[in-house]
Amino acid sequence: GAPPGGLYSPGDPLVLLQVDTLESSVLNSSSAWLVEFYASWCGHCVHFAPIWRALAADIQEWSPAVNVAVVDCADIANQKMCGKFGITGFPTLKFFKAFSKSPEDGTKIFHPGDSIQNLRQSIITNLEMHKETWPPACPPLEPASVEEIRGFFQTNNVTYLALIFETNESFLGREVTLDMLQYENVAVRRVLSSEEELVKKYGVTAFPSSFLLINNGTFSRIPVQMEARSFYTHFLRRLPGVTRGPYMPTRAPDTSKVYMADLESALHYALRVEVARFSVLTGERVRALKDFVAVLAKYFPGRPFVQNFLRSVDRWLRNVRGSRIPYSALKLVLTNRKEVAPAVLSNNVTWVGCQGSEPHFRGYPCSLWTLFHLLTVQATRHRRLDPLEVLGAMRGYVQSFFGCRECAQHFEGMAAESMDKVRSVDEAALWLWSRHNRVNARLAGTATEDPQFPKLQWPPPELCHPCHSVVKRRQVWDEAAVLQFLKAYFSPINIFLNYTE
Ligand code: FAD
Repeated sequence: GAPPGGLYSPGDPLVLLQVDTLESSVLNSSSAWLVEFYASWCGHCVHFAPIWRALAADIQEWSPAVNVAVVDCADIANQKMCGKFGITGFPTLKFFKAFSKSPEDGTKIFHPGDSIQNLRQSIITNLEMHKETWPPACPPLEPASVEEIRGFFQTNNVTYLALIFETNESFLGREVTLDMLQYENVAVRRVLSSEEELVKKYGVTAFPSSFLLINNGTFSRIPVQMEARSFYTHFLRRLPGVTRGPYMPTRAPDTSKVYMADLESALHYALRVEVARFSVLTGERVRALKDFVAVLAKYFPGRPFVQNFLRSVDRWLRNVRGSRIPYSALKLVLTNRKEVAPAVLSNNVTWVGCQGSEPHFRGYPCSLWTLFHLLTVQATRHRRLDPLEVLGAMRGYVQSFFGCRECAQHFEGMAAESMDKVRSVDEAALWLWSRHNRVNARLAGTATEDPQFPKLQWPPPELCHPCHSVVKRRQVWDEAAVLQFLKAYFSPINIFLNYTE
């Protein structure tokens, strides 16, 4: 476990090393190691810890080739060992090649204040400096040649080969290669834009871009919304026949379904946790809560006792006169009643479709998006309505109550820019879909991305093939197909009740 006062804990996606494990781990290892020597009292180290933790999460999949670790040199037990490794200041980052022989073999990496991206790239650069001691689990990282590609399927027993065409200074191809190293039946190679014969053969005009070769001789451009790391890996990991090696994490929920447990958890959290932060609601917040509950009472396709609950809260709010509501009064109305006509919303939070691989991922924000998509889609069944009814309620809720203030600001920016151009309930559902995709694109590859649930442009082809079409070799959305898909996906019959109490 972590020494008391250490900056990292056993739950972090990195290896905690100490006096008795440091040498035996990093020396003579078949993988490379990247070790942060820190001191828990050092301010720089405290600031740097979130970056190091995020870097470790970001390249967790690379671990058979390179491991990320930490040593607390402030722990008395470790002090002598840190001296043996030549550590004189904190934090010190050292890269140990696979099969390193002695503590002196570590190379200092000078990026302590730097971005995750720079650190990741410097790891790749260090991996490439291996010569005869190349880590056995590390796939080749050098650019592929014409000859190699020509004979590839004769010498490699895989179904797929992904070629990432890029300029010399780009790291994308190598990152995706490493991201895929634990996956079987697929190989990834980078091809430089200067490799004219291959560029011509595949008709490549954009760098980066990528092609999928199949061992039956066919090839096609890999259809991604953005030529970016998480989009490529998402696509490649889901190819039929591609499986993750023996390290497979626990089974993920079915992404083609909506789960009632997520939706009810969102309602509970929104009404009883987020709204409860304000001991008295006034002005805008009263208006926002009324609008939010009104659309819930009208459109939420809940279980009967949940609908009773929402309608009774709605009735109560409609009768509130004046512009203040103490939460103490609202709280009574939000209490479950189990008599003649039960009005119940569970007090539990259970994430199913929104379960993250770590507690700080997904959960509430994921369920809030799901809830509002569902509401915009349910509203399309009532044609002659104010097209902004649901979007307006969402805007008000997010602005007044959503605890992620940075999210609220971004969302308000998008709303102010174009929400009033929405002319119909169908357009409202599409507006929310396209803005959510904008958020996904902005967040792809950042630290808020759950590595098990990459931020992709949604719905991906395996959920909705007709949603994607290609015009002039560019992938575009077929919005009519997207609308049809949204209506089927966010429909009551696609909401699964398992996991609800
Ligand atoms: P989410 O993006 O939460 O999506 C949830 C589910 O909705 C997905 O699993 C998928 O099934 C479905 N889905 C995905 N895309 C679409 C789509 N385009 N249309 C319909 N359904 C879709 N985080 C930040 O770091 N910065 C921000 O500025 C920010 N702004 C936000 C604004 C709002 C209004 C909300 C609700 C959240 C915001 N977040 C922001 C949080 C972030 O968007 C995610 O909700 C969070 O990171 C969890 O991501 P996730 O992987 O669970 O998927």
